[in-house]
Amino acid sequence: MRFIVATHNAHKLEEIRRILEPLGIEAVTDTMCGIALPEVEETGTTFAENAYLKAADACRYSGLPAIADDSGLAVDALGGAPGVYSARYAGENATDRDLIEKLLREMRDVPPDKRGAHFVSAVCCVFPDGDMLTATGICDGSIGFAPQGDSGFGYDPVFLPKEYPGESYATVSAADKDAVSHRGRALRNFSVQLQAYLKKHKA
Ligand code: IMP
Repeated sequence: MRFIVATHNAHKLEEIRRILEPLGIEAVTDTMCGIALPEVEETGTTFAENAYLKAADACRYSGLPAIADDSGLAVDALGGAPGVYSARYAGENATDRDLIEKLLREMRDVPPDKRGAHFVSAVCCVFPDGDMLTATGICDGSIGFAPQGDSGFGYDPVFLPKEYPGESYATVSAADKDAVSHRGRALRNFSVQLQAYLKKHKA
């Protein structure tokens, strides 16, 4: 079964396809289907709501089962911010560098033992008949004092996952990031549900 991935973020798309394809899930983009998914306004107040808005819209528009991820960073010392506003934390057209600079500025006076944070990914899959599957993944860690590494995207250089002491999401390999990341965990959870769903619906 082919699934359309509802995102215009090239890095996220690369991760989603990289994680899903070894699990036997064919994930295609809008351009691969010869369409252009319209941008969806993320008006939800939770990651799950926004993931649903994106998946439902892509499914309606393409006629294919659609998968969306809504994700972000929740920082303890900032009361859970930037949260669902992670992409817009430094303004609408902010670059990844702007996001990181703003976060490090806000965290300037926060001591090492108070820099806890976690990444969240909510995955939603909507089928043309209205069926829906949802999954969540969390990765715990902390915020560094300076960027480390240059791979990945978004806040990767300043997020230090607890599984890899001394490393950031941007210094570990893609496979190591996927093994512990919020998105990796959510998508593997989704794939387990999908196998069960497909088995039930073929019977
Ligand atoms: P959205 O899910 O498209 O609303 O955007 C989520 C935002 O959270 C991204 O634009 C990034 O800034 C940030 N983000 C989500 N996942 C990751 C990740 O794996 N690494 C770094 N930043 C991320």
